[in-house]
Amino acid sequence: MKPHGALVVRSLSVRFGGVHALENVSLSVEPGTIVGLIGPNGAGKSTLLNCISGISRPTAGTIELGGESLVGKRPDQIAGMGLGRVFQHPQLIPELSVLENLMVAHHRRLGYSVIGEMIGLPSVHRAEEQARHEATQVATRVGLAASVDMMTGSLPYGHRKLIELGRVILMGATQLLLDEPIAGLNEAEIEHLGHVVLELRREHGLSVLLVEHNMGLVRRLCDRAFVLDAGSTIAEGTPDEVLNDPRVLLAYLGEVPTDA
Ligand code: ADP
Ligand code: MG
Repeated sequence: MKPHGALVVRSLSVRFGGVHALENVSLSVEPGTIVGLIGPNGAGKSTLLNCISGISRPTAGTIELGGESLVGKRPDQIAGMGLGRVFQHPQLIPELSVLENLMVAHHRRLGYSVIGEMIGLPSVHRAEEQARHEATQVATRVGLAASVDMMTGSLPYGHRKLIELGRVILMGATQLLLDEPIAGLNEAEIEHLGHVVLELRREHGLSVLLVEHNMGLVRRLCDRAFVLDAGSTIAEGTPDEVLNDPRVLLAYLGEVPTDA
């Protein structure tokens, strides 16, 4: 995996007709850090991820990864720069095995540098062996070594989530965007997914921007957190700092906590 620079969002605004989905939002994710993005429904979290991954275009502001602008690039170009988005609903081929789904992601990454691959002129067989080898390694890393030959559609949702995570790693992602990754998972699966994310960061210096409602997970994984409310950043700091901030409690609860 190639190293990457910081993800930096500056003064981002997004308007949908009269709705200000984001208003002058700035945040950064330093290499090797896990940053939480929290806030009540409608705060603008998904809109921000959509802008970063190239699905939506901001009305104003800049987004850079390693000093290179992402605004105006297509989602596949942005993915090719090392940005991997894990979707809420895994986009896998149910009829293929776990290993095959992972190998598809590996092939897709090679597609980004077809010319380079051609200059190297590896035999098709060698390329296939390499894909199998890397896919097996990633399967082990996300805890799916025992399931590599199973048909993906037959596996529990938590397993499919891990395959999706493995796929973005195989596509060369070094900066992950996770949008509520544990929605629909049970306690054991949440514990395992958190562990995998921390291991990927430790072993490969991956950076993560994590949208999450589960504050226990935010405390466990995140170095820093940003809080959005109605399109604006209302707090920034360590998870403990922001989760004890009266403005954040107000945004979530709709009332100022009392000392009583
Ligand atoms: P969150 O992910 O924090 O729940 P969203 O980013 O989905 O919030 O939405 C932020 C605001 O932008 C909401 O008011 C939402 O209704 C509005 N919004 C999001 N996407 C669109 C869209 N495509 N068209 C119009 N309004 C949108
Ligand atoms: Mg959302």
